[in-house]
Amino acid sequence: MTLLAIKGLEVNYDKVRAVTAVDLMVREGEIVALVGANGAGKSSTIRAICGIKRPRAGSITFCGQRLDHLPPHRIMGMGIAHVPEGRRIFSNMTLRENLLLGAHHRNDKDQVDQDIESDIKLFPSLGGRLDEHACNLSGGELQMLALLRGMIARPRLLILDEPSLGLAPRVVEGLFHILGSLRDRGLTILLVEQNIRQALTTADRGYVMESGRVLLSGKAPDLLADDKVVQVYLGTSRLGRDAN
Ligand code: ATP
Repeated sequence: MTLLAIKGLEVNYDKVRAVTAVDLMVREGEIVALVGANGAGKSSTIRAICGIKRPRAGSITFCGQRLDHLPPHRIMGMGIAHVPEGRRIFSNMTLRENLLLGAHHRNDKDQVDQDIESDIKLFPSLGGRLDEHACNLSGGELQMLALLRGMIARPRLLILDEPSLGLAPRVVEGLFHILGSLRDRGLTILLVEQNIRQALTTADRGYVMESGRVLLSGKAPDLLADDKVVQVYLGTSRLGRDAN
């Protein structure tokens, strides 16, 4: 079933055209990677989905309902959670207090404590630390906490903006492994990344953006093998890769 459908999306900042004619679709239960270099238009696309930036043209439909003229809190209420770039964790609050903020839109508040205790088991380095202040966490742990806060909203679609930013390769690998397990448990994820190799290795499908447009889209393994992706984004030639 199609959860999110974007058609002909255009986003401008005054005279700067950030996104042009973008079509994108996310089906229930898949990880879709939205990848591209700095300034390609990924964050602007996400801002339009979340209601932070009103599109200039196009439509965004979620579970059959148009959302492109709704304010962010209504879009969250429809079941879209956004883990922003930079994480926005409150360091002077405990892990539990940060996680409770994620449950703000839930109607079943009496279930939230139990969900926190159960979901935190997916992140062994956070286990037993719910009443610690978030200022004690490493960069990787902060990203895990931000992901967990998004999950605690029990969204139908979780949008992650650059989760690997600033993390060591080993930590990134662990994080993407967790994303794969979350998908296997039924969570639908739209993953925005500059780490194209890691994103396409984990995702089911992907969209490659360049200069505000979708340059390529398809199954993630096909994109990983695409000559243009290999040469421009993965920094290795096919010859070199095949020789290894
Ligand atoms: P990054 O990974 O650096 O966030 P991105 O792919 O998410 O890159 P966007 O942030 O969407 O790209 O930027 C797309 C274009 O829009 C770029 O040319 C950028 O300079 C421009 N842009 C983004 N935000 C603004 C803004 N607030 N005001 C003016 N121009 C902006």
